[in-house]
Amino acid sequence: MSNEAKENVSEEPFVICRDVHKNFGSNHVLKGINLEVRKGEVVVILGPSGSGKSTFLRCINHLETMDSGMITVGGEPIGYEWRNGALWEAPYSVVAKQRSRIGMVFQAFNLFPHLTVLQNVTEFPVHVHGVDPKVAEKRAMEILEKVGLADKALQYPRRLSGGQQQRVSIARALAIEPELLLFDEPTSALDPELVGEVLNTMKSLADQGYTMIIVTHEIPFTREVADRVVFMADGVVVEEGKPSDVMYHPKTERFRTFLSRYL
Ligand code: ADP
Ligand code: MG
Repeated sequence: MSNEAKENVSEEPFVICRDVHKNFGSNHVLKGINLEVRKGEVVVILGPSGSGKSTFLRCINHLETMDSGMITVGGEPIGYEWRNGALWEAPYSVVAKQRSRIGMVFQAFNLFPHLTVLQNVTEFPVHVHGVDPKVAEKRAMEILEKVGLADKALQYPRRLSGGQQQRVSIARALAIEPELLLFDEPTSALDPELVGEVLNTMKSLADQGYTMIIVTHEIPFTREVADRVVFMADGVVVEEGKPSDVMYHPKTERFRTFLSRYL
């Protein structure tokens, strides 16, 4: 499916980020990020190192707290709850539940080394969501089939290539039946020859209609798969739009310079 002809993207915003600010001490890292993502939409965030991309992604599932602003996913404020007409930091049990429908894939695969591939994929559904182990296993096998790793189910992660390990961590993110998938530079730690298989897996998820926010430096992938591109620099969104517009005709010198480094 090309990004021009997507029919499953709804009009309603599913993820809403309003004026998100974050400081690390005196370092003002996010300076008022605004972003809306619709269900089924694939948004790629580009930007130089240190611009706050990871911090922003981590704010979305509350791995990082915000200093001000608001983020809702499916109408729910993640990490906060309404009490007496105001938003308050939510207790961990509430956060865990809110986060339970957001899958995240990191640059480092973070697989459990002492668990098999299959156990890595069933771990969260069984131990966090209380899914029956047999049910979780059946579903995990279907997901491993989808990412082309069913034959590795009983292997341990260290026996797999980096690309295969990253596909297992994608399978693990899918196992919680996510409504939103976040990817933070999922191919940056891979040898160049292994990048393609991971990008292909992600493209297939995009084609299946998953809602995805992806931080990456893979420009051709972005052109092909993104419905929308967001260029971040110094903690703000500098430009955003369809890849066919903004990536071919960047409006700002900053984005033009950034792109020219990758082409
Ligand atoms: P990007 O992902 O775009 O490279 P980051 O979000 O990782 O950017 O980092 C943005 C800024 O925030 C950097 O200056 C970084 O040093 C700082 N930073 C990120 N995480 C932390 C942290 N946990 N503690 C202190 N500073 C941090
Ligand atoms: Mg980062």
